[in-house]
Amino acid sequence: MRNNRIGFKLGLVIITVFLIVLLFLGFAIDRMFTNFYSAEMQRENEEITSHFAVMANADDTTSEQTMKTFAEFSGVSIFNILKNGEVILHSGIHDSADRSFIRASDIDKIFSGEKINLQYEDTAGHRYMVSGQPISSGGVINSALYVMSSTEQMEQSLSGVRNLLLLSGMGAFLLALGITWIIAQILSRPLLQMQSATRKIAQGELETRLEIRSKDEIGTLAEAINDLAVDLQRYRDTRQEFFSNISHELRTPITYLEGYSKVVKEQLYETEEEKDRYLDIIYQEAVRLQHLVDDLFDLAKMEEGRISLVPEWIDLSELIEQAVRKVELKARNKSLGLNINQSGTAIMVRADGKRMEQIVLNLLENAIRYTEQGSIDVYLIYGSDSITIIVEDTGVGIPADELPYIFERFYRVEKSRSRQYGGTGLGLSIVKKLIEIQCGQIKVTSEAGIGTRFEISFVLPPESREGGI
Ligand code: ADP
Repeated sequence: MRNNRIGFKLGLVIITVFLIVLLFLGFAIDRMFTNFYSAEMQRENEEITSHFAVMANADDTTSEQTMKTFAEFSGVSIFNILKNGEVILHSGIHDSADRSFIRASDIDKIFSGEKINLQYEDTAGHRYMVSGQPISSGGVINSALYVMSSTEQMEQSLSGVRNLLLLSGMGAFLLALGITWIIAQILSRPLLQMQSATRKIAQGELETRLEIRSKDEIGTLAEAINDLAVDLQRYRDTRQEFFSNISHELRTPITYLEGYSKVVKEQLYETEEEKDRYLDIIYQEAVRLQHLVDDLFDLAKMEEGRISLVPEWIDLSELIEQAVRKVELKARNKSLGLNINQSGTAIMVRADGKRMEQIVLNLLENAIRYTEQGSIDVYLIYGSDSITIIVEDTGVGIPADELPYIFERFYRVEKSRSRQYGGTGLGLSIVKKLIEIQCGQIKVTSEAGIGTRFEISFVLPPESREGGI
């Protein structure tokens, strides 16, 4: 019962409600039958009384005997009473001495021409239906006629009906109890299964899945628990992969640093140029390490959702010009062209300027890094409700089968090539995260040996753009 608390509570509520309804219904049906039987009996008794009154009126000496026979035959007791209370005729099983049902007020009513009806219980506990009517001749009321019918038969019929009601009520209650138990089981079983599944998931058994049997709220809850388990599993796997990648990425430059600093320290070089080359490698690896740590720090902040945007009104044309200026030297060193193309009516937009510059710079640096000849073109397109930035190069390109993975952390096309260029494999995943937290989209198209094109677009709600500039 402890494990099945919801089922028990639910069952208790249903049964309580059912019992209340059943009791009210039983009471109402019982009242209905009692009233119906009483009304019927009263009507019959009144009718018999009327017959007796007619008989008593007949100006005939045999009428008294006929009334007695008729009373015996109908199983009723009759009392014919004068105004002073004297009984001039009595017949039937009811003791003529017991006349406590005869009240002076009723006699007055009858002698004023009215009919009366009452219920009476004698000292032995027998109940009667009593009707009283006047007997008159020639317009003068001579006496009052009382007819008493025993209610025993009616009570027997009523008790039969009550027994039947009780029996059917008990049957319905047992049926409801059974159905409630089944419903409680049906409802609580999946909940108990979910409880044990979530316990298992909490204990690290992330492969645990629930069977979805329905499309209702319980089914949706089971689906949500399954999704949660899948997410946790994915999170655990990527975290493990992430840590093994980090240790691998850190180990490589550290090994270089260790090796080359040892060579310099122990003077294992032959010429000064050789020493300079080793020192240069040590410097390059230290810079790489710095980049890696910075990128990891950024990514960790974004993954935890700790990065907060600082929205401001920015002029994207100016922002792109600044970014291009920053990488100009690198492009010139490789004799690469660097062009900005702008179309549409320039507007001020509300976005995080620092993060936008980080996105553009990252794409520009990649473009310069992976392009040996040709040019890099930046397009800034102002649409009616969106803004698109394109960074296109004529570099080495990315093979089609590797394109889907380039936004993953530490993913590099041709590992050795990227190391040679000094990349960390984190740049594009940072770019993607930065775009996503600003509700933008990034698309890439590339062809090996021809070039790569990154297209970023942001839909601008009216409150994020401001007139032409
Ligand atoms: P990295 O720091 O190694 O450049 P990124 O995440 O920025 O890491 O990029 C992932 C991989 O995508 C890179 O290793 C590189 O091989 C490829 N890549 C990115 N940009 C370009 C580009 N413009 N042209 C060709 N390859 C690119």
